[in-house]
Amino acid sequence: MHRILIAEDEARIAAFVERGLRTHGFVTSVVTDGLSAYDHARTGGWDLLILDLGLPACDGFSVLRKLREARVTIPVVILTARNSVSDVVAGLEGGADDYIPKPFSFEELMARVRVRLRTEPSYEPTVLRAGNIALDLRTRRVHVDDRMAELSAREFALAEVFLRHPDQVLTREQLLSRVWGFDYDPGSNIVDVYVRYLRRKLGADLVETIRGVGYRLRATAPTPPARLNSRS
Ligand code: CA
Repeated sequence: MHRILIAEDEARIAAFVERGLRTHGFVTSVVTDGLSAYDHARTGGWDLLILDLGLPACDGFSVLRKLREARVTIPVVILTARNSVSDVVAGLEGGADDYIPKPFSFEELMARVRVRLRTEPSYEPTVLRAGNIALDLRTRRVHVDDRMAELSAREFALAEVFLRHPDQVLTREQLLSRVWGFDYDPGSNIVDVYVRYLRRKLGADLVETIRGVGYRLRATAPTPPARLNSRS
């Protein structure tokens, strides 16, 4: 079981990240300032550090520099609102392994974390399947029967959430937070728009609308209507 340290002073974001990681079976702890981040990260008790740059007491860049100076090799994924090119370069040159600008979606964060841990959790398959759809999480390719479908990153993330929860009703809010992140307007109809894209690309019957609630992936193809004998 992997242990992930989250250094984030914004309670809402820390809770969002922590809840999601725990759902995926990670052990987590949150620290809210740079000095605690450094103290905890250097103990060796953590497999990965998610590091906000704007932290009280000691900013994320300084935490990172001190860790690397102390030859602490823990993988570090920087999470920050400072998304200018110079920050990205400074973060990576400072020894960060990856960089995610806010706002971010949880699926995106998970993908980066998995890469940095260089392991797929053993209980997680690499290829998710439902009906005639196969979603390869490693190559990010999607097949419908033998045909490859072209999905955008967002469409892929949405398809992944559906395939991870076959036959389960997912509300628009759940889909918004899993795919678009915490910053999205809950009144947005973007989920409906993307479900339409998926139906167009992966099959009209794949995702069922549950009126007033949300959507459900049909794990098995619907039974074709019985053939009617023309004389009866
Ligand atoms: Ca901050």
